[in-house]
Amino acid sequence: MNTEKTPITLEKIVSLCKRRGFVYQSAELYGGLNGVYDFGHVGTLLKQNIRKSWLASINAASDDILMMEGALLAPQEVWNASGHLANFNDPMVDCLNCKHRYRADELDLNKPCPHCGQKKWTDVRMFNMMFKTHLGASEDQASVAYLRPETAQAIFVNFKNIISTNRVKIPFGVTQIGKAFRNEINPKQFLFRMREFEQMELEWFCSEKTAQTDFEFWSQKRLGFYETIGIKKNNIRLRAHEKDELSHYSSATSDIEYQFPFGWKELEGIAYRTNFDLTQHGNFSKKDLSVFDDETKSSFVPHVVECSVGVDRLFLTALFDAYDEDVAEGEQRIVLRLSPILAPIKAALMPLTKKQVEPLEKIYRDLKRAGYMVQFDESGSIGKRYRRQDEIGTPVCFTYDFESETDRCVTARNRDTMQQERISIDKIEEYLAQLIK
Ligand code: ATP
Repeated sequence: MNTEKTPITLEKIVSLCKRRGFVYQSAELYGGLNGVYDFGHVGTLLKQNIRKSWLASINAASDDILMMEGALLAPQEVWNASGHLANFNDPMVDCLNCKHRYRADELDLNKPCPHCGQKKWTDVRMFNMMFKTHLGASEDQASVAYLRPETAQAIFVNFKNIISTNRVKIPFGVTQIGKAFRNEINPKQFLFRMREFEQMELEWFCSEKTAQTDFEFWSQKRLGFYETIGIKKNNIRLRAHEKDELSHYSSATSDIEYQFPFGWKELEGIAYRTNFDLTQHGNFSKKDLSVFDDETKSSFVPHVVECSVGVDRLFLTALFDAYDEDVAEGEQRIVLRLSPILAPIKAALMPLTKKQVEPLEKIYRDLKRAGYMVQFDESGSIGKRYRRQDEIGTPVCFTYDFESETDRCVTARNRDTMQQERISIDKIEEYLAQLIK
């Protein structure tokens, strides 16, 4: 058997996701919708664990964190004020010969079309990436709304409501986890660039005086987060933007980048957005969005540090980082070495024969009642069951065997080391609690 490791490719990840039900192409039955994906059982669980650990890390870093959940639709006034109608564009170019469409900034237009080999380009046009729709029956200008391309604006638009209903003082943060929509010209690399995706954002409101320190504080905290969820240190880095990379609203931005097989790419953006957003919404809505500073006895419009990461992009990152191939019992195995915090299933319970189903089922029910996401796995050979659990990243499998009845112990088999130890049935819950701490 050839036991040499081959590089981890996107194809391997896509194939694992499909085989084990992490991710499905959306509307696959009808040919699929490009850049849109559905998540299966273990994929949904992994997403939930990603959201949970993100929120926990933000709350561990600060005591002044609020939550909100904004609507997906917002009227065009919001996007006018935010600058998205004018600026949220990608340059687009078409091949006149084969009609393939590209992002012009990802292509050398002096070279022929990578698809058909001809060199017949259209002019470069700017393409606004927001999805436009109309509310109600009339399709006039007044009814125009857009699906949000980022979650942040709902927080800015609600700033006054948040202040007046929560008795908070600057500095404080507001988190939001939710869907965002971008009509990407070229969705690609699976979950890396999607048209419908999910973001986890923190908007940290502060004074201009502390903004730079707060920006650095959050940059470090966010970098530290990836270590807590088990991402390998040498695959992740913080990179400050050059001046010419900065968005129209930002005066300092750093990206947390991950080393994907297709290069170092942005995983999370951390941006000092100045007081651009609240100033814009104040001006456009003609409402006062300033706060009063007790110290200086004057009003000011708060500044903002934003941390924004895609749930799906982090999902893909976690899979790349955890994917491994080795040999188990003389067979090639695929193993997802996910941190137990992220693992969709925390443990699998495996009876050796039909006789052991009943007593093990009791343990299984008790663990479920205690809130553990565990799986009862009784079909196929033990080896096959281990392989199945290894591929979805289950950190431990408990087998109940002939001796369990007398010694009141199960065999715990570790996903990574494949080592086995006998542990007391009474200690299973403690064992799991320790594992996911
Ligand atoms: P990129 O340069 O990769 O397009 P961006 O700078 O436009 O990203 P932001 O607007 O900063 O991205 O969005 C914050 C985060 O949201 C990104 O770091 C990424 O994790 C996620 N994200 C953005 N666009 C997409 C997308 N099309 N599909 C999946 N995740 C996305």
